[in-house]
Amino acid sequence: MILEVAGVGKRFGGIRALDGVDFRLDRGELVGIIGPNGSGKTTLFNVITGIYRPDQGAVTMEGEDLSALPPHAIARRGIARTFQNIRLFRELTVTDNVRIAHHPRIRYGPAAALLRTDLFHREERRTLEQAEEFLAIFSLQGRRKEPAKNLPYGDQRKLEIARALAARPKLLLLDEPAAGMNPSEVGKLMEFLSFIRERFSLTVLLIEHRMRLVMGICERVIVMDFGQVIARGLPAEIRNDPRVIEAYLGQGARDKD
Ligand code: ADP
Ligand code: MG
Repeated sequence: MILEVAGVGKRFGGIRALDGVDFRLDRGELVGIIGPNGSGKTTLFNVITGIYRPDQGAVTMEGEDLSALPPHAIARRGIARTFQNIRLFRELTVTDNVRIAHHPRIRYGPAAALLRTDLFHREERRTLEQAEEFLAIFSLQGRRKEPAKNLPYGDQRKLEIARALAARPKLLLLDEPAAGMNPSEVGKLMEFLSFIRERFSLTVLLIEHRMRLVMGICERVIVMDFGQVIARGLPAEIRNDPRVIEAYLGQGARDKD
């Protein structure tokens, strides 16, 4: 087991964004989290990554309690994420967006950077080479010198994933990576996610609010509604679960999608 979420609760004023959320992830799994808008999916990622502390319960990674650690300490333990709304440094080049992710691992201190020591130069070269390696895997090397904002939307999503992977995580959290993509882009992205998971021996937790998207690639699915896990199981089981169907019918009334 790599991650355990046990009895996690999180309130915002009167809203119970998370309410007794329990699940475990085994190493190497690709698990989907689905649920209507507002069901607590992003909040769950914010709690796992230390942006919010849970009011109840705990998040444990490889036996270590993460609940009291700040985000950078959690990142260093091997959790990386992408955001529902793309967060890139829009004016920086594609390469620099990926290089930034290496910095938690860089071994030189501020004094070395000031003095421009050999170690500094060696580390800089190494991060540049690694960044270019990642861009090649993502077929983005042809655009490496362009500002991130010039990339088409699907490529910006890919770049965000490349940046997350450059930190060499064990666990990758993807928050609606297919949002805003057309069906052909979505198909390619899903194949690509299967590929990188093998290539980097990752455990992946994938949020998506459109149910059918995760059904193709996830081994297991966790369904949330109103901050609670309302169902979990194999995609085929989930698809026919009356509670899940009802949650999504309710969603249909809330927003057409
Ligand atoms: P999802 O990602 O499933 O769409 P969220 O986790 O974003 O859902 O939101 C769950 C609930 O928590 C929503 O009602 C949302 O408005 C609320 N919420 C999330 N973050 C905050 C916050 N920082 N402050 C207040 N309410 C929040
Ligand atoms: Mg969300």
